[in-house]
Amino acid sequence: MMKEILYKSTRSTEGTLKASEAILKGLADDGGLFVPLEIPALDVTVEELSKMTYQQVAYEVMKLYFTDFTEEELKNCINNAYDSKFDTEEIAPLAEVEGTYFLELFHGKTIAFKDMALSILPHLLTTSAKKNGVKNEIVILTATSGDTGKAAMAGFADVPGTRIIVFYPNGGVSPIQEKQMVTQKGDNTYVVAIEGNFDQAQSAVKAIFGDKELAKEMDEKGFQFSSANSINIGRLIPQVAYYVYAYAKLFAEGKVSKDQKINVVVPTGNFGNILAAYYAKNMGLPIDKLICASNENRVLYDFFTTGEYDKNREFILTNSPSMDILISSNLERLIYRIAGDDAEANKKMMEELSKDGKYSITPEMKAKLADFYGNYASEEETAAIIKKIYEETGYVMDTHTAVAASVYEKYKKETKDDNVTVIASTASPFKFTRSVMNAIDPKYDSMGDFELVDELSKIGNVKVPNAIEEIRNAEIRHNNLCEVAGMKDIVKKFLGM
Ligand SMILES: *Cc1c(COP(=O)(O)O)cnc(C)c1O
Repeated sequence: MMKEILYKSTRSTEGTLKASEAILKGLADDGGLFVPLEIPALDVTVEELSKMTYQQVAYEVMKLYFTDFTEEELKNCINNAYDSKFDTEEIAPLAEVEGTYFLELFHGKTIAFKDMALSILPHLLTTSAKKNGVKNEIVILTATSGDTGKAAMAGFADVPGTRIIVFYPNGGVSPIQEKQMVTQKGDNTYVVAIEGNFDQAQSAVKAIFGDKELAKEMDEKGFQFSSANSINIGRLIPQVAYYVYAYAKLFAEGKVSKDQKINVVVPTGNFGNILAAYYAKNMGLPIDKLICASNENRVLYDFFTTGEYDKNREFILTNSPSMDILISSNLERLIYRIAGDDAEANKKMMEELSKDGKYSITPEMKAKLADFYGNYASEEETAAIIKKIYEETGYVMDTHTAVAASVYEKYKKETKDDNVTVIASTASPFKFTRSVMNAIDPKYDSMGDFELVDELSKIGNVKVPNAIEEIRNAEIRHNNLCEVAGMKDIVKKFLGM
């Protein structure tokens, strides 16, 4: 029998939930995030893992966390998620470029890494609802900086018993991202641009989630909220799987020997993806450094450097918009852990964050961050590395991945560390075509969006992904704009309340 893993909030000392309950709730009532009481250890060897498919590896990881799912339930979720929606059987292939490995997490339906988690979350959620006798329709509310929204809608569109509402910052996402969202099909989907930035959207969503009166009203009408944001444990855990898979793949190909340590570089915004790598390391995967790459919104770099998290700063719109974030929600799970699983201490810091926009960790806590290295890349550096790698190798990467590649260059220069390194490649260059092509040559700026797509396909020698082909001539189905203060009313309207 597998050891049962229970979950609790990062902000309270009592109350434990089963995995399916934590997935259903998304966010704890006290505003905290659910964390496993302990991080389980992998119980298969790398030799065994190296012979497995992506789906099999995913099962070996998720079975340790989602312990109240039956084997059949979990395997159904996995097989429904990681199927032909992905354009490669490997699901998450590794591309070797100049001795570094790019873990391509963008082969799903919306060509960004969020598909890795959001293609399985609807199945985890509906299975959890069934297991817990939930009769209400599940309403997903999501704030997106671009990729989450589309990936969530693609996952939930027309899934029975669910509805999804997505808010995105007007003018804060790429033209392709916006087109992807406003053309979303499915009668249970609703997309709204808001007059504000991502952090404002996210804070408003959190407030709507925490609105007890609204929850009561909804329950009477047969609805309940759940979250598809990266705070849901049902998104975090599936992301652990691809780090394990990447390591197993490196081992299978003889690129690392047994137990040889690797570094992982992650372009970071909300801190979900890199937290998954941290969980993988804590499960026993031989990861040495966790390299946290930020764009010019370098709040995490400053945090790792000084021990102070301070979001009181200018919000910068960059060409890596999915990382334009000043409040990295998932960092709370790390804070809780380095505080020695001290919910009171964590709660105090999170209250300071919401009151003053900042908090400081203790020297003891900072000492526990030794596995992390933080740095950032400017817009110029990000563009420069896209151009450099393209010219040297022909490999075209997107702007988010380029932030990671640039930070990794700085890290190598600073430390001379020559560990085998995996860079999480979080989006297809086709999703940020204009920024990518402009980085390669400013002459492309005069071309139209889809002209650029064809040009990228030509110079990069890669087929235009289906996700892009689909939106070329798609009909616009959503045209809504609202103020941040009007978000709650929009939600009620969509639910017919
Ligand atoms: C969301 C996103 C990120 C940031 O991931 P987090 O888990 O929020 O840190 C990076 N790149 C792309 C393309 C994304 O969509």
